Amino acid sequence: MKAIRKFTVRAVLPPALAALDELAGNLRWSWHEPTRVLFDHIEPELWREVGHDPTALLGAVAPARLIELASDVDYVAGVNAMRDDLREYLEKPRWYQGLDGDKPAAIAYFSPEFGIAAALPQYSGGLGILAGDHLKSASDLGVPLIGVGLFYRAGYFSQAIAADGWQLESYPLLDPDGLPLSVVRRPDGSAMPVALALPDGRTLHARIWKAAVGRITLLLLDTDIPENDDDLRQVTDRLYGGGGEHRLLQELLLGIGGARAVKRWTALTGHPEPDVFHTNEGHAGFLGLERISSLMGEGLDFGEALQVARAGTVFTTHTPVAAGIDRFELDLVRRYFSSDLLPAVNVDDVLALGAEADGAADVFNMAVMGLRLGQHANGVSKLHGEVSRRLFAALWPGFDESEIPIDSITNGVHAPTWTDPALLALAETRLGTSDTANADWASSRVSDDELWAVRTALRHQFVTDARLRLADSWRQQHPGGTVPGWIGDVFDPTVLTIGFARRVPSYKRLTLMLHDPNRLRALLTHPEHPIQIVIAGKSHPADDEGKRLIQQIVQFADDPKLRQRIAFLPDYNIAMAQLMYPGTDVWLNNPLRPFEACGTSGMKAALNGALNLSILDGWWPEYYDGQNGWAIPSANAGGDAAERDRFEAEALYDLIEHQVAPSFYDRSETGIPVRWVDSIRHSLAGLSPEVSADRMVKDYVEKMYRPAGRAEARLSADNYRAARELAAWKHAVVEAWPGVSVAHVESGGVAEVPEVGDELHLRAHVHLGGLSPDDVNVQVVYGTSHRDDELSDVHVQTLTPATGTDPDAAPDVAADAAPAAEGNGTDGARLFVGTVTLNHSGGFGYTVRVVPRHPLLHSAAEMGLVAVAG
Ligand SMILES: *Cc1c(COP(=O)(O)O)cnc(C)c1O
Repeated sequence: MKAIRKFTVRAVLPPALAALDELAGNLRWSWHEPTRVLFDHIEPELWREVGHDPTALLGAVAPARLIELASDVDYVAGVNAMRDDLREYLEKPRWYQGLDGDKPAAIAYFSPEFGIAAALPQYSGGLGILAGDHLKSASDLGVPLIGVGLFYRAGYFSQAIAADGWQLESYPLLDPDGLPLSVVRRPDGSAMPVALALPDGRTLHARIWKAAVGRITLLLLDTDIPENDDDLRQVTDRLYGGGGEHRLLQELLLGIGGARAVKRWTALTGHPEPDVFHTNEGHAGFLGLERISSLMGEGLDFGEALQVARAGTVFTTHTPVAAGIDRFELDLVRRYFSSDLLPAVNVDDVLALGAEADGAADVFNMAVMGLRLGQHANGVSKLHGEVSRRLFAALWPGFDESEIPIDSITNGVHAPTWTDPALLALAETRLGTSDTANADWASSRVSDDELWAVRTALRHQFVTDARLRLADSWRQQHPGGTVPGWIGDVFDPTVLTIGFARRVPSYKRLTLMLHDPNRLRALLTHPEHPIQIVIAGKSHPADDEGKRLIQQIVQFADDPKLRQRIAFLPDYNIAMAQLMYPGTDVWLNNPLRPFEACGTSGMKAALNGALNLSILDGWWPEYYDGQNGWAIPSANAGGDAAERDRFEAEALYDLIEHQVAPSFYDRSETGIPVRWVDSIRHSLAGLSPEVSADRMVKDYVEKMYRPAGRAEARLSADNYRAARELAAWKHAVVEAWPGVSVAHVESGGVAEVPEVGDELHLRAHVHLGGLSPDDVNVQVVYGTSHRDDELSDVHVQTLTPATGTDPDAAPDVAADAAPAAEGNGTDGARLFVGTVTLNHSGGFGYTVRVVPRHPLLHSAAEMGLVAVAG
């Protein structure tokens, strides 16, 4: 019989154990091992069965067991001590509280997905896990973040594999009452709602859930409530479910509804209102429009409100390809913003924000809007910063790529979440710290034997888990059948174990390892140096190509001669990952460079002493040092795709055969791979602090949040005086700009054959179109020149307006272009002068340009205005 309605009844705990509720109610348990140990102690078997979920555990445990524990004085004392520890964690000043100088009172962090714990499946992959790790580190560091997202009834899909290797998807519904969430309520107990006006005169209502992630509150909006029409209840049905309008509704809810939820929640609780807004990828970009609308309510016009909203907004882009960007049909966006959604905001102003500089006229581009609404933008690794500056260069025509105002902050991962408890215990007992990311792993206080024993135990633990998963999968494929014996022998806990797990878009090249099946077979079954490979990953439900790749792997692994050495594990998720990363010796990553924006799974593997074997893409070029793993050489990106795959696959096989495997099996008399253990120490000590999310969050605070907070404060002071001035100034500059030009440039001072150290004197005659010299910077841009006249390694130096007494103003120079002009103001042009020292030999080139200047501009390129000589 099927239930027509389901709900979860929460357990009533004996009063002596009341603190367990408090501990279960804060997701700190998901990364705090001592708290997890307390839950495990209640009933270890059940704790495993419920997937390490305290709320589910407390709902399922027999009351008799709880009564028994309530009379166990030691356990009760342990629980109470842990509650006190949690309270202290929540209240005591941390890193952020110790920072000197201005800092934001609060930062709202928006993301379409959050991967915090297996028990709260609201993520599809790296983007969500990163967001979860960002919140956790912010909590540990005391950064006053407020998380904002959506609550999806079905989360992302759950993956099974059919007997023929085809991916099957299911969408188990979540019951929020059974999750560590509670509804945000007003003092009278009623739910605090959020509403959005829709074009057809209807209203989209949402309920706000909140989760406690350590010190951070995460607000999640949910439309599955009776106030909504049936179709609108489905808006938050699943993550990245539909396209077009469904997706637009989700993003309107996330951005606009999310900003409203933050406002209501801060008003309700007295938490400071955010002065900085951070959008993790472009999906939440509409939040900027809600902020503009709300500022317009305070009497600003659109242009003025835009300055304030921009100043306080941080936009992080995660995609290296145009195809990865959200784009909507322009007419669809027009329809939604022609309604009462944001009545103060003119729809044409909205559409202009999402207009592509070089693309189709009928699309609305969320990343482009993100960059226009976010004065502070970044990619997620150094390489991805470069790729992003290239990708979005059309928005800033006339500027060198290095000047495009997109910075980079390399992703990181939350060490306490991703470090196995066995390694944590080793750090605690031998190195006297629970901070595994900053422990002295090179120290001889941890012996090679001990470190290797832990690594071996981790491999065992993972192999056991993999076998259980494969048996489950077999049972699903063969209902009623008996699991065959060979599944109990899949993987050998002593064999070199290589892991590969990630989503399956084609650029990640899941099947590169199959390029030469015979060569792979030989590596797997090598008589002295065998390897084994574990693979996992979900293909997007609409991506049949990805599903075919999974099928190829599964079919290859079906071979009875190979199936104990290679296996695909269905349903990659946080729980699997937490055992897989520590259990592998080598983490493999072979994307098509440069399509991996950062990649974080290799970081999580590194935290546990696995070595990375990766293409130099994403984070790896920044951190690979020759001893912490291996770099797979990449072929030229311009070449033939098949040829490139062949080259890179062979490089991979060669590395495994000649370097990785021999090193792993090179053992001392006592069976320790001494060289390998050295590399593990080197990797743990060198990489862990760098790949930790604490480093990332500190970078965001210093490079993004504080500058954004300061910019926002400057513009808002005195009833937005500076915002009004800046908007008026920008308007005047835009109007005047067609009249701005470099009339001509004269140079002198260098010999006929210039030498390093020579000084080049420049005089530029510039038309200002009615602007004052203070409104502009006239700059010489110089660097290495190439045959096509392009400049590289570009430097910029500002020229100064000539005064009558300026020695450079003397006409000692020859005209580069046009006849020489005399003094100041021929044809109304102004003279700017300066000197550049020739600092390198070889091709040298320069040009002169004019850009707007204002103390509140973040970069020269910000307004996208430039007038270049010639
Ligand atoms: C870390 C992680 C990812 C992302 O890994 P990438 O290397 O960035 O692709 C995806 N899924 C899970 C479960 C993870 O833990």
